Amino acid sequence: MNIAVSFSSFFEKGKTFRPKKKFSPGTLKYSLHKQAQASLNSGVNLQEAIKLPPGEDFNDWLAVHVVDFFNRINLIYGTVCEQCTDTTCPRMSGGPKYEYLWQDGDKYKKPTHLPANKYISLLMDWIESQINDESIFPVTTDVQFPKNFASVCKKILTRLYRVFVHVYVHHFDRLMSIGAEPHVNTCYKHFYYFVMEFSLLNSKELEPLKEMTLRICCDFHVSNYNK
Ligand SMILES: [Zn+2]
Repeated sequence: MNIAVSFSSFFEKGKTFRPKKKFSPGTLKYSLHKQAQASLNSGVNLQEAIKLPPGEDFNDWLAVHVVDFFNRINLIYGTVCEQCTDTTCPRMSGGPKYEYLWQDGDKYKKPTHLPANKYISLLMDWIESQINDESIFPVTTDVQFPKNFASVCKKILTRLYRVFVHVYVHHFDRLMSIGAEPHVNTCYKHFYYFVMEFSLLNSKELEPLKEMTLRICCDFHVSNYNK
């Protein structure tokens, strides 16, 4: 199956939550982005597709994936956002056991209960501000990545994972009804293999979707995680 093409053709028909962040042609990240897309298009398995190509810089590889996941998860949330209201989802939860509180050190100085749509909107705004900040995500090769680049990316990926949690737990019926489930599962697996390969997510973050992950990503990563 041509994963990348079917994914985008499917979601571009739907409502886009916000504009896509794009890479400028001619930059290193653009060619890496194309390389990553090409390996998905060629149908290689996702566990191979996420491996750092020989000779490439890890920060570039990380930057490209973070931006791609941000774009894709935005599209996924866009397909359920009309069903995610203050009434249906008064909390940013992942079932009765898990709730995420928002804190940004700015307007929300203390961890704050918020409706899921408000939380996700703040989360996406925050990620957008990070990836558009050229001192964090340099657009030219003469600008270095900051020393804390990996930790910024870990935080971005951690927050993006919470959107998967909310969407899977609370909006799975909607995904099924519009036929999006296989596409979302593919995106989830891609994300999961990537964060596991490079140890980018704390294992406690994976708890809310642990059973589903076992079901759809049954491979050595999951068996390692369970040890
Ligand atoms: Zn919701």
